Amino acid sequence: ERQRPVVLEAINAVADRIESEQDHLTELDSAIGDADHGANLTRGFSSVREELEEIEDEPIDAIVKEVGTTLISNVGGASGPLYGGTLLTASQELTDGFTAESSVAFAEAYLAKVKDRGDATVGDKTMVDTLTPAVHTYKKSIEEDELPPLTALAKAVDAAERGVEYTVPLKAMKGRASFLGWRSVGHQDPGATSTLYILEELLAVAE
Ligand code: ADP
Ligand code: MG
Ligand code: MG
Repeated sequence: ERQRPVVLEAINAVADRIESEQDHLTELDSAIGDADHGANLTRGFSSVREELEEIEDEPIDAIVKEVGTTLISNVGGASGPLYGGTLLTASQELTDGFTAESSVAFAEAYLAKVKDRGDATVGDKTMVDTLTPAVHTYKKSIEEDELPPLTALAKAVDAAERGVEYTVPLKAMKGRASFLGWRSVGHQDPGATSTLYILEELLAVAE
């Protein structure tokens, strides 16, 4: 119950951040893609923002599920189903809201779904390169190191940051960037970057 305002605040914070990074994401996608990643995500998150009032009284899992559905139908491109479809599936872990345990299950379900949908693995120069270290770090911090969720999330964001840097020297193996072959080397992946921004906003709101 008392988590709902935090979840709504997080959704708004992510939408704001995506909007303010739109040009930067477009710039990254123009180097190794079709220059629409910023526009795709901005369109998706402004639709999410428009419908937020209608869903704000729903349980947490239903809100997250609805955000996923809206992203699927409004983002488009390769990233639409990867951002939206994954939230839709992972929301099933949130029937009791966010706890240390359910947030690990949510993060793992999200990563598994991205990898499954996109058939990408670490090193393919995609958002998987950000998500994998972030999710593994979060899980380990909570389950093995028994850190509080906020500390675990901060560590996950650090790991995600290194994941984004790691995409720069890679040759793209999935998505449009893979059409460039070796010419994709030396560029930062747009989807890995937007994923980091989202994680940074989740941390900022949780703090
Ligand atoms: P499109 O490439 O269709 O124009 P976007 O520009 O919105 O879609 O998104 C591109 C991003 O999607 C890439 O930077 C990459 O991170 C991610 N992506 C593309 N294909 C895959 C895939 N198969 N698996 C995981 N992520 C992918
Ligand atoms: Mg694109
Ligand atoms: Mg496109």
